[in-house]
Amino acid sequence: MTSWVRKPRDRNRVARRFVFDAGVQDISGLGPGAPLSRLLNLLGERETLHWLPVRHRHVVDGVVIDMPRDWAGLEQLLCTRFAEEAPGIRAFLGEVRLIHRDLYAGMQAARYRPIAQLPLAEQMQWRRLFPHAANAAGRPYGECLQRHIRNPTLLGIFSLLAEYVTDDPARTSLTDMVPLFGYYIDGGFYPAGGAQKLPDLLCRVIERHGGKIRLKTGVTRFTLCEGRIAGVELTSGAVVHAPVVISNADVASSHGTLLGTYDLPPRYRQRLRQLQRGPSAILINLGLATVPDMPARVFVKQGDLVFGLSNPSVLDPSLAPPGHAALCLLHLLPEAEAGPWLGLAPAQYEQAKEAHARRLIEAAGRVVPGLDRHILHYEVAAPPTFLRYIRSENGSIYGAARGQWCPAVRSPVPGLFLAGAGMATGPGVEAAVLSGLHAAHAVMDG
Ligand SMILES: Cc1cc2nc3c(=O)[nH]c(=O)nc-3n(C[C@H](O)[C@H](O)[C@H](O)COP(=O)(O)OP(=O)(O)OC[C@H]3O[C@@H](n4cnc5c(N)ncnc54)[C@H](O)[C@@H]3O)c2cc1C
Repeated sequence: MTSWVRKPRDRNRVARRFVFDAGVQDISGLGPGAPLSRLLNLLGERETLHWLPVRHRHVVDGVVIDMPRDWAGLEQLLCTRFAEEAPGIRAFLGEVRLIHRDLYAGMQAARYRPIAQLPLAEQMQWRRLFPHAANAAGRPYGECLQRHIRNPTLLGIFSLLAEYVTDDPARTSLTDMVPLFGYYIDGGFYPAGGAQKLPDLLCRVIERHGGKIRLKTGVTRFTLCEGRIAGVELTSGAVVHAPVVISNADVASSHGTLLGTYDLPPRYRQRLRQLQRGPSAILINLGLATVPDMPARVFVKQGDLVFGLSNPSVLDPSLAPPGHAALCLLHLLPEAEAGPWLGLAPAQYEQAKEAHARRLIEAAGRVVPGLDRHILHYEVAAPPTFLRYIRSENGSIYGAARGQWCPAVRSPVPGLFLAGAGMATGPGVEAAVLSGLHAAHAVMDG
């Protein structure tokens, strides 16, 4: 969650100021009792940031649907546009709504702890109280969707949201996907000023409570003493002592390079080795000398090509000069396509980025007519960029692929806790915050 400023010059040599984000522009989890609300309430910061409501448009093979931000409106619109599918739409959305209600009520009832960590009797009671959430775990999303819906455009609309967690919707379960429908229940939001505003706020809270933030400081390994965590060693060689370490580094490196030769339980080690990484991405930030007529978020499917466009300056004019826009294009790359990027020589890398950018900008031009003519500035991130900044294997952006085992927040190494997108809660700010709450409770519960 970071933002930066660029000041490209226009054809009259006038510098134009744009604020770009590293892709995070549609944040969920701000509904009553949802993880981000919970965190901000706990910190006494619920009202600090100005959250701007993001509207969604879906463009599925040329069919344009502007999605209402409320559930009743969504159901009504889809039942009107796809009248022949209305009973299936109602049944599908009804099922999703029940699971969503149970998941969020169940999250609060579990006091933001993983259900599997609750005492057994409490777990059983939880399953009785929240049967829709309990039954959703591990159930394939596609199976539920296809039971109710036949129309390919509708299937496209309900699958495009998966872009927020995976490049492969077939791998998702109802527990992965139903929270994404929260965008049409509690809404998705953009923090005014840019994505960086949220981490900046969290940094202020940490420092206000006596904590210290060390930016641009790599951790090279965890230090251990008598089989338990004792601290971290920094790239400078300095050691920071700590009885507890919470790591939101890439899930593989937390137990790989950072942990070294620690004797993990064989089954755990094997599962880690088998973890699939999930997608990387091509991300293009564009400074435009025009304001595209589109909402803040557009999901696009053109045949096999799927990508997202974000247009946050339509919500927050401070991100671009008047008459300009800061546009962001995100295209996921499957794990197998991301790998080859990492071995490219510098010249090949630049060529590959340019070729991909050209192809994607051309495709985006079918959604934003004349896009090409209005580009004042653009910059492209590819798997090596994410490898560098997220420090994830293969430059994966979503932690780990969906539909597989993920480690629990409490590592087998005493004193080591894990959080972030690689956990069972999955990727996305809301999910990462929930994993952080899980980790914090695991530490506090001892
Ligand atoms: C392009 C893109 C678009 C996205 N869009 C959205 C969106 O619109 N909405 C949404 O909710 N989510 C979005 N996400 C997902 C969301 O950003 C992530 O799921 C979330 O930020 C994960 O949080 P995290 O704490 O696990 O990891 P990160 O945010 O990746 O933070 C991990 C940090 O640890 C640092 N680190 C790793 N190893 C070390 C080490 N050894 N030493 C020191 N530091 C280290 C990394 O450099 C990084 O800064 C997007 C992600 C990407 C990449």
